[in-house]
Amino acid sequence: MKKVFIFLGPPGSGKGTQTSRLADKLSIPHIDTGSLLRKNIQDNTEYGIIAKSYIDKGQLVPLEVVSNIIKDRLTKDDCSQGYILDGFPRSIEQAEALKDILDSIGKFNLKDDAVAIYFNIDTEILVQRLINRRSCPKCGTIYNLISNPPKIMDYCDICDTKLVTRKDDNEKTARARFETYEKETAPLYEYFKQMGILKEIEADNPISEIWENLKAILSL
Ligand code: AMP
Repeated sequence: MKKVFIFLGPPGSGKGTQTSRLADKLSIPHIDTGSLLRKNIQDNTEYGIIAKSYIDKGQLVPLEVVSNIIKDRLTKDDCSQGYILDGFPRSIEQAEALKDILDSIGKFNLKDDAVAIYFNIDTEILVQRLINRRSCPKCGTIYNLISNPPKIMDYCDICDTKLVTRKDDNEKTARARFETYEKETAPLYEYFKQMGILKEIEADNPISEIWENLKAILSL
């Protein structure tokens, strides 16, 4: 059984929804660098101050910031049985940094313990998805006003909190994020394929179907 689950795919491809489900099913942490960075911004930390300008422009936050945040997180006790990485690594240099972090922790390694799951989907569909994405600031549930709307418009089905739109989910920043994705993140497809740990999933399907396919490819 694999222990490190790396989710790859363009912004808005549905990784967040599936990774949350997988984390519940396997009882392992879901580590999402975008959320960790936004928390640092909210808390006005040194890392948050650096990260903000990059996130607002749809660019990758510098390696040093992201790898320190990830290293801190992966050394916590709840990571001892494995974890799900959502949004990290996002470039070849981050994948190399992950390799070094895993070596320094000495518990898991990419080749034997990790699987990379690539969400395959046309990016034009995704720009529309991102613009229509809403999330609950309290419990983190993600909605889409078109494909997965809340029962009461703008309020979370689970905790009744008013939903929010992420600041970087506007069209201009969304398009910049796709450019960054194509340039920096897409090359990881070949990188993990060559390592022999890549699995692919069709992400332009209903959430429940993607979930069934995900369980099948992971033999769960
Ligand atoms: P996400 O929530 O995954 O869509 O990430 C939102 C933004 O956070 C991205 O557009 C980047 O600016 C930043 N970010 C998230 N993860 C990373 C990462 N692994 N490396 C650099 N920047 C990141």
